[in-house]
Amino acid sequence: MSFTLTIIKPDAVKKNYTGKIIDDILQAGFAIRAMKQLRLTTEQARAFYEVHKERPFYDDLVAFMTSGPVVAAVLEKDNAVEDFRKLIGATNPAEAAEGTIRKKYAESIQNNAVHGSDSPENAVREAGFFFSYLEWS
Ligand code: ADP
Ligand code: MG
Repeated sequence: MSFTLTIIKPDAVKKNYTGKIIDDILQAGFAIRAMKQLRLTTEQARAFYEVHKERPFYDDLVAFMTSGPVVAAVLEKDNAVEDFRKLIGATNPAEAAEGTIRKKYAESIQNNAVHGSDSPENAVREAGFFFSYLEWS
């Protein structure tokens, strides 16, 4: 079994979509290995998105990700990274396929409801960012 890391972002938590999104994830065949709600500090959000630090949207993204609580989870399934990216849809909800989580729940390209790891290597890094090895392994 492989795994991926998701974050239900502050826009979706604020609108009480947490339960609906978790239900979509479970119905799509993912199992939850670990999950918690927390509020990121600015330093934590900057570190999580460090790969985007040169992008023009970085400061706004960090402000958004610290604007309220998030729910982080490690999800297990075969082909987890790729299948989860399909389930959430394109970064911009206007371009996301019908039925995807971002199409259903996202507000904008920035406030796009959920994060999903983009590779198995990053899934390891991101799971370790939120959870100790004992919590998700
Ligand atoms: P994804 O989350 O689909 O992997 P990226 O890794 O490219 O997308 O970007 C990380 C996050 O940064 C996005 O989920 C979104 O919240 C934000 N973002 C990406 N592109 C833009 C943009 N052009 N304008 C504003 N925010 C953006
Ligand atoms: Mg990404």
